[in-house]
Amino acid sequence: MSDLINGPNDEELRVGVYICHCGSNIGGVIDPKEVVEFAEGLPDVVRATDTLYACADSGQRLIKEDIKKYNLNRVVVSACSVRMHEPTFRAAVSEAGLNPFLMEMANIREQCTWAHGHDREGALEKAKDLTAAAVAKTRFMTELDMIEVPVTQKAMVIGGGVAGISASLDLAEQGIETILVEKEPTIGGVMAQLNKTFPTMDCSI
Ligand code: SF4
Repeated sequence: MSDLINGPNDEELRVGVYICHCGSNIGGVIDPKEVVEFAEGLPDVVRATDTLYACADSGQRLIKEDIKKYNLNRVVVSACSVRMHEPTFRAAVSEAGLNPFLMEMANIREQCTWAHGHDREGALEKAKDLTAAAVAKTRFMTELDMIEVPVTQKAMVIGGGVAGISASLDLAEQGIETILVEKEPTIGGVMAQLNKTFPTMDCSI
């Protein structure tokens, strides 16, 4: 097996997989227990189970307890979009002593049961594939630290057309020092070349 397939480190992986029902959002289209059965057969998975609402206190508690009970060093939550609950599950695994960046989510709701509610079999297969991909990805995950970097409140807008001028003014109104860069000798872009604009037929600038 190549280094790429092994991942960046040699540690023994112990992956816990949690398949969320989200009430009927997921559980009304596919049977999460079938995804659990599938996940149990994936490499490195030592624990797979379903949960009615993974983000609820009970769901988070289950994950936290399992991390200790099964000595998990990676967690996969097959549920909703990362935009919805990635911070929730990162915080949960962190509270159980795991680096928060060793948690991966598979989106089996927005990208699966919501999108393919008319095709239950297809949705089930996709939920399995998304879960398998998330489990495979855990092999490449390493502990990361959050860092803070100072941000300079200064912006550069490239292009002095109407959009660029408008963006520059918006930024300046927020108190951000803004530099507008334009390659032509004048600003205004295409609009500046029109002598009248519909519907007022006024001068364009
Ligand atoms: S984790 Fe996401 S998919 Fe699961 S119950 Fe909460 S909102 Fe629904």
